[in-house]
Amino acid sequence: MHEWALAEAVVSTALEESKKEGLKEITKIKLKIGELQQIDIDTFKFVLNEVIQPQNPMIKKAKIELETERGILKCRVCEHKWAFKEMLKKLDEEESESIHFIPEMSHIYMRCPKCKSPDFEIVQGRGVWIDSIEGEK
Ligand SMILES: [Zn+2]
Repeated sequence: MHEWALAEAVVSTALEESKKEGLKEITKIKLKIGELQQIDIDTFKFVLNEVIQPQNPMIKKAKIELETERGILKCRVCEHKWAFKEMLKKLDEEESESIHFIPEMSHIYMRCPKCKSPDFEIVQGRGVWIDSIEGEK
């Protein structure tokens, strides 16, 4: 149900923004989704395209583009930064599966590649946001 709430939030934000811009119709919405966001992309797309869009004349014909923002992690001890994807390659299948579903689990399996500390933070790659809106006035 998480995907429904997100899709609704995205659409209501897009509608508010387009009102401010004085748009009559939205033609394109570009969304960014963090790699570490726990979201089922297929469900999210389905809700947007099949449920919310047809109900709303202003957004009915809009093309929705989804782009993934890569996850970046940063060590709190030595400040080294690394990409989430690179790290995933080094894990076995079961480990990377659990991280995919629960990003917090990454602290159990992941270590800073430089100093081996498990104390790191996510600096990029969470959340869903609108990158741009295009439309007709
Ligand atoms: Zn480190």
